[in-house]
Amino acid sequence: MAYKLLNGKDLAARMKAEMSEEVKRLADNGITPGLAVIIVGNDPASRIYVNSKKRDCAEVGIRSFEYALPEDTKEEELLGLIDALNQDEAVDGILVQLPIPGHLDEAKVIRRIDPSKDVDAFHPFNVGELMIGKHAFAPCTPAGIMELIKDAGISVEGKNCVVVGRSNIVGKPMTMLMLHANATVTVCHSRTQNLKEICKSADILIAAIGKSKFITSEYVKEGAVVIDVGINRTPDGGMTGDVDFEQVCDIASAITPVPGGVGPMTRAMLLKNTIKACNMHKS
Ligand code: NDP
Repeated sequence: MAYKLLNGKDLAARMKAEMSEEVKRLADNGITPGLAVIIVGNDPASRIYVNSKKRDCAEVGIRSFEYALPEDTKEEELLGLIDALNQDEAVDGILVQLPIPGHLDEAKVIRRIDPSKDVDAFHPFNVGELMIGKHAFAPCTPAGIMELIKDAGISVEGKNCVVVGRSNIVGKPMTMLMLHANATVTVCHSRTQNLKEICKSADILIAAIGKSKFITSEYVKEGAVVIDVGINRTPDGGMTGDVDFEQVCDIASAITPVPGGVGPMTRAMLLKNTIKACNMHKS
């Protein structure tokens, strides 16, 4: 079966071009969106993510402000910085790069961000807004997946959607967005029984597990749309998804590659959320 490649890299590039134009229009009115990124400690993966977020901001004309704090930063210092950024009019979005060191209370830190600047949409206020469908922001990865599906002209309404993974940043918000789009949603996790059978019933299968090539052809129905969220690092520095692309692409009607699928969309949605926050604050 010929499959459609859901190319997140291309769509993200198109979205960035549109966002650059929007940022120029804002600049004509003396407005510049700003994103503050806080990184605590020396996690190499976090450093790569923060650098790419700063590059993305520069590409579309968003100002970025980096706050690199040492590993042993005290919680009060971090909370104090967030308080200051909450008050700073140049800052529309605040992002704390996760994970943060273990001595810091992640939930407390996220709760300290002004919900109107919470461009990751992890604050319980925004989680609640998403639940009732009144959200200003949705978490970037699931929001990016919805954009990718929409752009490909894939209809969601009435479809059986199976989400494998129930994390707060991917699986759960993905479930809510699919529900709001009128899919019938099943959420699976590590205790799910008959996982293969459930996945095989999916018209849209979303894998957010964190296990390389876990989803093989046995999990996929002929003609299904398959979205691979996984980023699994290989010892040689490469990257694999949660889906065995080689096996599954012959069965799927549409599938995301890794890399070049969901990842670039996640990054694009952060920019989109930041511009949205800017419009909320300054327009
Ligand atoms: P988590 O580790 O927080 O969640 C993984 C989920 O998968 C859990 O709900 C877990 O179940 C479930 N799971 C684990 N093993 C199995 C199994 N054998 N069968 C069924 N379910 C299983 O990961 P995240 O949600 O944060 O991320 C998932 C993947 O997506 C990772 O590879 C991550 O790197 C990637 N990612 C990619 C992004 C992108 O932009 N492309 C952004 C964010 C994440 P349980 O709850 O029972 O433990």
